[in-house]
Amino acid sequence: MLGKILVVLVSFLPCFLAASHGTPWKYGNTVHSGHQTVYGPRDWVQVSHHCGERAQSPINIDTVQTNSFEKLTFLKGFSFKIANMWRSLRGRLFNNGHAPTIKIEAGFGLLSGGPWGSARYRLAQLHLHFGCKSNPGGSEHTLDGMPFSGELHLVFYNIKYADFDAAADKPDGLTVIAAFLEQNRLGVSNPELGKIAHLLRNMARGDREENERNLLDLNLYSLVPQLTDLSMTPFFSYKGSLTTPPCYQSVNWIVLGQFIPASTYVMDVMRSLRNQEGHSLCNGSRPPQPLNGRVIRGYMG
Ligand SMILES: [Zn+2]
Repeated sequence: MLGKILVVLVSFLPCFLAASHGTPWKYGNTVHSGHQTVYGPRDWVQVSHHCGERAQSPINIDTVQTNSFEKLTFLKGFSFKIANMWRSLRGRLFNNGHAPTIKIEAGFGLLSGGPWGSARYRLAQLHLHFGCKSNPGGSEHTLDGMPFSGELHLVFYNIKYADFDAAADKPDGLTVIAAFLEQNRLGVSNPELGKIAHLLRNMARGDREENERNLLDLNLYSLVPQLTDLSMTPFFSYKGSLTTPPCYQSVNWIVLGQFIPASTYVMDVMRSLRNQEGHSLCNGSRPPQPLNGRVIRGYMG
């Protein structure tokens, strides 16, 4: 119920792909062709044994089940800062065959304090999950059983480790901020999402060499307005995993309780993206995983 209230109250706001093992994976059903098998989410344990462990992501965030939900109080010092608040994002946008992804230049954004104590996390990349036209869902996490049209993941690594790769499999290695996208059929859209869509229009197939683009004019605080003051932002946090193979259980999740509006144009551009086999990247979402006794903590802003 709380989720519904949040969505009503805040109507206009908003896995990650680590290098996977050699075994190929996809979304949807497992496909056998010739000598090769490409595994869908139900069989990802064949890609990495971590995908079968007990603290996996995404999850359904159930705000009604009080035995698995705990309220957080004000989190002093919880902040996201970039060196120059109004500077455009510096990074590279590409279609990696699973999701449109923006790799951030080193040293851009720092997350500190919050539900995970005094550790500091640096922004490494962000990427998008979204549904197909025929499927109104598309987010990975769900709120009281309700999916959204998509989900933006901002992936951070703990700076006590040398780099992202060194942090990716450590229990305190990563934090991911998840922001839901909700399709707005009246054309209301987050302006930064529009810029990303504009750049994505010519990136049909997943091929890094041909499809990288410079980001010249993207502002992270406009893309995710909640980042300007996280103490004012309702969110949920829990301990989970990467939502793609190798499914390391290294992620402190922060799922924002407000969504980002995305126009039909933005959603359709994302849905037009293809991987190198010509398949759409839509429905690029792992289904919710069992909670297995984990506690979800919620901050009401
Ligand atoms: Zn993701």
